[in-house]
Amino acid sequence: MLPEDFETRLKAQVDFPSPSKVATEIIALARDPEIEMAKVAQAVGRDPAMTAKILRIANSAFYAQRRPSQNLRQALVIIGLNAALTLALSFSLLSSMRALRAPGIDYPRFWRRSLLAATAARAFGELAKIGHAEDIFLAGLLQDISVLALDRVARDFYSRLPQPATHADWIAHERKELGKDHATYTGLLLKSWNLPVRICHATEFSHDAENTAADSDDGKIARCVALGSDLAEAVLSADRTPAVNATARRAKHLLNMSQEQFTDVVERILRLIPETEELYETSLMDAEDAENLLAEAREMLAVRNLHALQEVSSLQATTSVLLNRTEEAEDSSKRDVLTGALNRPWLDRMLDREFTQAVVFGRDLSIAHVDIDHFKHINERFGTEAGDRVLQSCAQVLQSCIRGSDLVARFSGEEFMVVLPGADQQIALQVAQRILTAITEANHDPRSEGLHITVSIGVATYTTDQRFASTLALLEAADHALYAAKLCGRNRVECFAQLSAHGRSPVASR
Ligand code: GH3
Ligand code: MG
Ligand code: MG
Repeated sequence: MLPEDFETRLKAQVDFPSPSKVATEIIALARDPEIEMAKVAQAVGRDPAMTAKILRIANSAFYAQRRPSQNLRQALVIIGLNAALTLALSFSLLSSMRALRAPGIDYPRFWRRSLLAATAARAFGELAKIGHAEDIFLAGLLQDISVLALDRVARDFYSRLPQPATHADWIAHERKELGKDHATYTGLLLKSWNLPVRICHATEFSHDAENTAADSDDGKIARCVALGSDLAEAVLSADRTPAVNATARRAKHLLNMSQEQFTDVVERILRLIPETEELYETSLMDAEDAENLLAEAREMLAVRNLHALQEVSSLQATTSVLLNRTEEAEDSSKRDVLTGALNRPWLDRMLDREFTQAVVFGRDLSIAHVDIDHFKHINERFGTEAGDRVLQSCAQVLQSCIRGSDLVARFSGEEFMVVLPGADQQIALQVAQRILTAITEANHDPRSEGLHITVSIGVATYTTDQRFASTLALLEAADHALYAAKLCGRNRVECFAQLSAHGRSPVASR
């Protein structure tokens, strides 16, 4: 059992190593309001591995920079002194804590969870525009550190739980046995280390985020840390879908985050993970895991959209008057006014839905990005009203080339997107070729004696052999193919898979 004076021992760091000399120095610097660049550069510069990491961070996805920073001072300017100190602290603390051996818990899983939670907490903070990204990261990273301390003091404390024990199992066990949980102890420990108040507060309240002030920075940071923990736990959980769902609902409750924003958070986490893995020399998620997580977030979004649609249709059933009105309103809200094709917001919704079905049921999904060639000249030569009529005519021709289950949407100005659910690459290329011919042959302005145009088309196909991580990735692939078609002289179809197979992807040259 735990020694009676565990709290006193924890505060005095009897059973738990205190931060290294470098870390202590960094903490002291971070508390100095008159902090100076030279001192920070000196402290960090003493450790070559740390210097390399700070440089790498400044040039990483965390801080997308146009020009790479060459030296430590430039990197410190980009990251900001306080943020750099916090990051340096996270490296330093983590390397000393990792040297510990915890007998009663699954140690690799513990660090994986901590780093995932930190990365997720940071992503929540960035999307909610709270600032203090590094503080949030560090609080996320250290939130469970006292579990290691508890485990070292009473070696059978956690090992008595059925394994693998989850975060919720730990909390329930601690509350039952000790009347408190590890969030309280982590708060104590970090205070004894003199860490900034904001970080201590966030960890102390990470299990009680609902009771923090929603409008204060400290409250918001605690909320991000709690959500980071939830998401990490969800990723590691055996029954992931309900856990991801519950996290999305909690994000709505704690940060008023929409489902769309939650999906953005997941995308952002997946973007940050490779950097985090390199910096902290850990493997967090394999490609399949990442893809599944994203698919789940997107599926939830699609399911929710479907629910919204179902609600509309159950309303429609109530009275025939309502039915007509709702249908009219619905139809006009999904169509582009000029061309009558589906509008962009509706395209995004439908494409998300189709994408989810493709992922979940392993179905093919093709899209064709159609862009009118030299449309500017048509406007200039015949006037924008004639240009408008060309756009209308184009939409009609596209509609005539597809089946009932396919979609035509106006993507932007003179660009259309054709969505072909279930179509493999070969069928998609046939449809695209059919469109190319029909557009070339049509007279697009009956008021003039003959107005002819051509289009360029980029095709991309999601199949179980060539997967894309998101609808956005699929759209980008079609856009690359379109760009290639333009480069190769216009009035032609190009397909993403063939470009990448022949190493002709224009991606690099863009
Ligand atoms: P490219 O072959 O490279 O695609 O050349 P482009 O001229 O077709 O492409 P660009 O993107 O340079 O120009 C598109 C033009 O489409 C510019 C814009 O004024 C025009 N446009 C966008 N929306 C409308 C619209 O609703 N009506 C009319 N008449 N013109 C539009
Ligand atoms: Mg264009
Ligand atoms: Mg064009």
